[in-house]
This record gives sequence, structure tokens and C-alpha cells, in this order.
Amino acid sequence: MTEIEQLTRFYEQIEGHLMPFKVNLSITNKCTWRCVFCYKGCPKNSEMDSESLRIALDRITAEPTITVVGLTGGEPTTHPMWRETATFLTKLGRKVSLLTNCSGITEDDIDLLPEITNSIQISIHGTGEGAEKITGSKVQKGLEVLEALTHNSEEDYHIKTITMVMKSNVGEVIPLLERLERIWEETGKPDEIKIALPDLLCGSLVKNADLYLTKEEWMRLKRGD
Ligand code: SF4
Repeated sequence: MTEIEQLTRFYEQIEGHLMPFKVNLSITNKCTWRCVFCYKGCPKNSEMDSESLRIALDRITAEPTITVVGLTGGEPTTHPMWRETATFLTKLGRKVSLLTNCSGITEDDIDLLPEITNSIQISIHGTGEGAEKITGSKVQKGLEVLEALTHNSEEDYHIKTITMVMKSNVGEVIPLLERLERIWEETGKPDEIKIALPDLLCGSLVKNADLYLTKEEWMRLKRGD
């Protein structure tokens, strides 16, 4: 069965049922990172083609109860139509939240983002080698984009950062928090900072379970030892 046939069958099954007010639209399984904890086991070489995207957007359009759409992946900014998708949903009156590691965000996007999204959740997993190890990538643009956005966006543009902690990056959590605190003191942003353990033993985490923090290590981090 093709992806479109699967989607169509799924939509037929839920037809007439009460829809949620929030959905996540995962437009790609491609990603510039290969996080050791990725619950979806990304990156994978697949993304929504324009027909699948049209079907999904038609469905959202037909459901007025859906007021919030999380634009996600994989890394959504690797999809060639992420800006058009966000623009379409915003014009439709839906609130768009972009979940991103920022790798595909350009300088021009800093001004565009508050126009085509209502909020952004930025993955930042450290300040140096720890972040590179946990994400398998040297491309770490989260802090740079965060700083640019905090200076450029309006007060009601919601900015959240998310940091997953494992053995490889635990030493960079406090330096990261200090950096975020400085940005917050200057700009009042980000609005929300989340530091967490990956919560499911699935996806890539299954083969990287030895990198999971012990309870003692997590408690030490919470105490700031
Ligand atoms: S957790 Fe997110 S950024 Fe990391 S590999 Fe998975 S999709 Fe990519």
C-alpha cells in the first residue's frame, strides 16, 4: 500500500470522529542530526511529497476543531515546502508551532518566522562537543537562531528551548543554562526552558541505552553538583 493510500484509509477511519485541537504534522523523516535518543530513529530517507502534504492540509482545513499545528519531522526545515506549509496554515487561521534544530533556518527566516509561525521550539543539547556527540552533528545553530529571534521577535512570539540529557552532554547542561539565563536577562526570552531525560526506550535509544543517565547522575544534575 502506498503512503497516500495509507493516509487515505486512516482519514476514512477517523471520519466523523471528534478531532483533537492540536495535531503534529510530521512533514519529513529526513534530518541533519542523528540524535542518540531519537524516538523515531531518524534520519530516514523519506518525506511527504506534495500530494501527501495536500491531503494532510485538506484534512486540517476540513477540521475547524484543529486550532494548533506542530510542524515537525525529522527536521522540518529540510523539507523544501516547510515555509509554504507554515504560511498556508497561518493564513488558514491555525496557530503554527515549529519544532526544529534550526539547521535549515537562514538569516532571512529570522524576520519571516514570526509572520508564518506563532511559536518555535528549538532543540539545543549543549554548548560544545557534548552537543555534537549526542546529535552526531557539528551543525549546531540553535543558540545563534535563538539569540537572533529573541532580539527580533515580538513579546507574544513564544520561544521554547528543549535539551535532552544523556551521559555525552551532561557536562554542558549548566553552561547552557548560564548562557540561556544571560539571554533571558537581556531580552526576557526564551519563555520556556525544558531540560529532560529522553522518556521512552525506543527508536535510536534502544541501541544507545548505555548512554542513559543513572538516577544518581540525574539527581546530581538537579542539585547542580
Ligand atoms: S530527535 Fe529530532 S533532531 Fe534528533 S535525529 Fe530525531 S528528528 Fe532529528
